[in-house]
Amino acid sequence: MDLHFDRISKYGTFILIQVASVSKIFVWCEIYQINEQMLHIGTSSLSVKTGGNETRTGKIKKESKEYIMPHRITRLCLRDSGCVDVCPVDCIVPGEPVDQWPWYYIDADACIDCGACEAECPYAAIFPEEDVPDAYEAKGGEVISMPKGTPGYDQVYEGENAMGDEVKLDFTRTLDAGEVIDLTEDIDQNTEFFESGPGYSVLEG
Ligand code: SF4
Ligand code: SF4
Repeated sequence: MDLHFDRISKYGTFILIQVASVSKIFVWCEIYQINEQMLHIGTSSLSVKTGGNETRTGKIKKESKEYIMPHRITRLCLRDSGCVDVCPVDCIVPGEPVDQWPWYYIDADACIDCGACEAECPYAAIFPEEDVPDAYEAKGGEVISMPKGTPGYDQVYEGENAMGDEVKLDFTRTLDAGEVIDLTEDIDQNTEFFESGPGYSVLEG
């Protein structure tokens, strides 16, 4: 098995996959821990047991898949835009139309988990997916925005982005100190923006 990265540690296990009632597949998985958030999972051999007790073993050509935890943008985003320029893979896209897609969104398939955007955001709106808080406790005064029609979001926010351009959001509300909200609900909006929403097409207009 040919590997192209420096591995820190290696684990291995057999995984049994029941394909149909008459056949079972045993897959040998090699798991390499590269760092705290990245795993390399590779399959090097495959054993197939058919209904007639016949066993076939062979090599799998597709050897590896890297697993990366993407970052996500939450409703704390006020379209500052500073995160866009620091992203090395250009996977942060401003939502359009703004009343339906009020935040910027991260393409999880392209994000390489570098963390540059998280450090850049003045509103601390970006989190690694596993760290998006399900009980975010407000300091007080944070403005959060949601799509048009979301109950309770009836304030207008006016501010400036990182380039000095005007930002206006029509469906916002201000958090009280100690108020607790679940930001994990916002993870799916990042996915939907690219899978069923406008995605990268907003950059073409
Ligand atoms: S830097 Fe923060 S507030 Fe600005 S667009 Fe990115 S996520 Fe939104
Ligand atoms: S973590 Fe890095 S790659 Fe992912 S969106 Fe942020 S800046 Fe881009």
